[in-house]
Amino acid sequence: MHVFIVALNSVADPKEAWSANLVGSRRLTPETWHPEPALIPIRQLARECGFELAGVAPAVPLPESAYYHQWVDAGYAGEMSYLTDRRAAVRDDPRNLLPSVKSVICVGKLYNGPEPYSTRLNSNELAWISRYAWGEDYHDVLRSGLERLAGKLKPQVGRPFDWKICVDTAPLLERSYARLAGLGWIGKNTCLINQQMGSWFFLGELLTSLEFEPDAPPPDCCGTCTRCIDACPTAAIVPTGGSGGPEWTIDSRLCIAYFTIELRGPIPHQAREPMGHHIFGCDICQDVCPWNSRAPVTGDLAFAPAHFAPDLAQLAAISETEFHEIFRGSPVKRARYSGFLRNVAVAMGNQRAARFRPPLEQMAQSVDPLVAEHARWALDRLQKE
Ligand code: SF4
Repeated sequence: MHVFIVALNSVADPKEAWSANLVGSRRLTPETWHPEPALIPIRQLARECGFELAGVAPAVPLPESAYYHQWVDAGYAGEMSYLTDRRAAVRDDPRNLLPSVKSVICVGKLYNGPEPYSTRLNSNELAWISRYAWGEDYHDVLRSGLERLAGKLKPQVGRPFDWKICVDTAPLLERSYARLAGLGWIGKNTCLINQQMGSWFFLGELLTSLEFEPDAPPPDCCGTCTRCIDACPTAAIVPTGGSGGPEWTIDSRLCIAYFTIELRGPIPHQAREPMGHHIFGCDICQDVCPWNSRAPVTGDLAFAPAHFAPDLAQLAAISETEFHEIFRGSPVKRARYSGFLRNVAVAMGNQRAARFRPPLEQMAQSVDPLVAEHARWALDRLQKE
């Protein structure tokens, strides 16, 4: 069998070699020959399904799950209960998601656009929405790509197998498996970074009962760089203090992305000014990363920007109905209308432009106490100015 595999590995498309090979007395035909999982061209199939990156990790429990629990125990998850409830234990083993799983096929989909980075946008009138949220909701895009990938595997494998799609919301240590699958290393900013493609990509996984040859993780290429740590306005990238795991982690309770997306209540006062013009997520730790300085741009229209640097005053005036219409199918709706207006008020207060006074005065009259309080805070900053 080993000789057979070596022979097939020497041709570009293993299936083209069927007619030249005999196993026992049975002549293989395209209909009867199905390659060992090791011979299935996963990356090529994944590329055909729209994924720039793909690799395979073994579906085994990882040492990283211990670091994950330490991270949760330290309180770094803030109020994100989906990270700390019973799903935290589910993350310990991918068999909790698919009992028959043997391999985790990890894919990456580029979403970077040609637009400037947030660190280069000089305007006191515009809001910043995180790059990942400019286009369609990536969950749907990745899920349909992974469904196509599973469909392409079926004729290659030629026998029934189990599979399950995970996109972000499933309790899985997806960056750790993506690293094992060779997609990149986990940077000090905790993003997965690929040496050629940077970190502007979404991750998805196809858990499968098929046993593929695993890929090898790449080396950590952060070196002595600390740009993301130095640039974070809220100092959210914190040292772990050792313990054998990663040196740096994110304290969500200090992270602008957490404040603007996940936090439902008031934003802590000390965090409001450092938020600057961010109203949904934050890109700074990726914008300053040298591995993103030449990051390629996606051609996928799903991620073409529908919400690039919108005008703050216009956002302040939208009704709840308009909010749902404008951000239908967009990740931005996760902030909810109340949280979104809260963020807009803070951003207007930070820009300190006199033209924001009327919309802020309007917001200060809001029946939503969260919006009203943040608008009053912003007006106070305008007053001081
Ligand atoms: Fe690593 Fe530097 Fe990028 Fe931070 S900015 S993730 S330290 S390479």
